[in-house]
Amino acid sequence: MAVIVWFRRDLRVHDHAALYHAVETGEEILPVFVLDVRQEKDGQSGRKSQALFSALRSLQGNLADLGARLVIKRGEPAEVLAELAKHFGADKLFFNREYAPKAISRDEQVAAELQRNGIFTQTFKDMVLHEEGELLNKQGKPYVVFTPYKRAWLTLPKDKPFPMPKKLRAATGLESYPSDLIPALGGQGSAKEQVREEELYGERAARRRLGQFLDTQLAGYKLQRDLPAVDGTSRLSFALRTGTLSIRTVYHSVLERMHQMSGPQSEAAETFVSELIWRDFYQQVLFHFPHTVEQAFLADYEQVEWDDNEELFRKWCTGQTGYPMVDAGMRQLNQTGWIHNRVRMITASFLVKDLLIDWRKGMNYFAEQLIDHDEAANCGGWQWCASTGTDAQPYFRIFNPVSQGEKFDPDGTYVKQYVPELAHVPAKYVHKPWTMPELLQKESACMIGLDYPPPCVDHAISRLIAIERFSQAKKLGNK
Ligand SMILES: Cc1cc2nc3c(=O)[nH]c(=O)nc-3n(C[C@H](O)[C@H](O)[C@H](O)COP(=O)(O)OP(=O)(O)OC[C@H]3O[C@@H](n4cnc5c(N)ncnc54)[C@H](O)[C@@H]3O)c2cc1C
Repeated sequence: MAVIVWFRRDLRVHDHAALYHAVETGEEILPVFVLDVRQEKDGQSGRKSQALFSALRSLQGNLADLGARLVIKRGEPAEVLAELAKHFGADKLFFNREYAPKAISRDEQVAAELQRNGIFTQTFKDMVLHEEGELLNKQGKPYVVFTPYKRAWLTLPKDKPFPMPKKLRAATGLESYPSDLIPALGGQGSAKEQVREEELYGERAARRRLGQFLDTQLAGYKLQRDLPAVDGTSRLSFALRTGTLSIRTVYHSVLERMHQMSGPQSEAAETFVSELIWRDFYQQVLFHFPHTVEQAFLADYEQVEWDDNEELFRKWCTGQTGYPMVDAGMRQLNQTGWIHNRVRMITASFLVKDLLIDWRKGMNYFAEQLIDHDEAANCGGWQWCASTGTDAQPYFRIFNPVSQGEKFDPDGTYVKQYVPELAHVPAKYVHKPWTMPELLQKESACMIGLDYPPPCVDHAISRLIAIERFSQAKKLGNK
């Protein structure tokens, strides 16, 4: 008999719950990845798919090193897995749980289909440190406020990392079974490029990045994490999203370092752990309130009157709003598929509270572009910025894109990296270039309206309109 291990958001061989338990059964192992045709056509640059395929290629190599070939199949998971089980005579399917509504219904469908064929499905906690059912408040309800959730989270014992299997006993006939190919880079990337990509996105790269972060950034995380010009955060979001790194490994490695630290350094490590808790928090919010991928958690704010201004939306998407911090963020997103957290907040707040555009439009744009896109974190982040979510910032507290820039990018290093039109603008004006005297605009090679756009809205006015619209929505909701 054989056990199918279905890889999904866990593209690694170290510290992998389902793989570990499959090996423990003593049976043959059949590792599978089901390629969703939608992943091959993510519309935009294809960067997201390419990063995923690189991670997949790295998993393929790592499994091969352990003695088992990864079978890749295109199609509907229930059909593919039932067919494989039949072919190899597998009687068990093991996989790690996911918590987004679509993933849950897909997994239920798979388990039901396989059960009909006499195959037993076992699932494992792997993607989070604590699942939705482990943390409920005194009334037995899910937490919707972060601080009490965090307090409760910290008191619970944590699973330890699972050891990596030394060798896998592959299912008989696996080597010759036809497997689909992982699409190549842009359809025609060279083998050399593929290796380079794997070095960026694969399991080894993720483990290396964790080590580097622990050695060089963790101690300063609390001070540096809000400065987008500094490489001060872990940049592990892609690895945690695709599972080239396990959350248990990250947590326990940080804890180990924290025990060797004191004073501000250990506070920095605590701040980092808090971010990992936000990750679990949003997963459980989405599990308990699946409608929030489409609707405001605070129902009153479904009534907010949005402007459907396509021209302003385009300016935001392409980084042409005339507000440097917003434009740098959107250009960083478009060029790299990743944005710094502080700038995610600034750009999201700007779309919702300055352009008065529905947060769902921005959330969907981020979903298309982010290589670390995670439905729970993205939805949680957007609803927090839009003041519509659990524990969100109040609607009248509105980020000022100029003062945010002056505070978190005081000399303009970050904005100049992504908005080269501002390269010669003095720091004093770099976050409000339209206030430069004309002579200085000439000297800085940045004529407003010619080299760089003027502000597309007046922040002072639009913030008042936003406050009025949100307060109206609240009044309507209270009636
Ligand atoms: C509007 C908006 C959209 C976002 N969309 C996503 C998304 O699609 N995917 C995503 O992983 N994160 C998202 N975040 C959260 C956060 O911005 C990123 O996790 C972080 O910037 C990733 O960089 P890092 O790995 O260097 O983070 P670090 O600061 O090093 O944090 C370590 C890890 O903790 C987790 N984390 C950190 N902050 C948060 C948070 N606020 N919510 C949930 N998890 C967090 C991530 O897994 C991250 O890799 C979003 C935030 C906002 C405001």
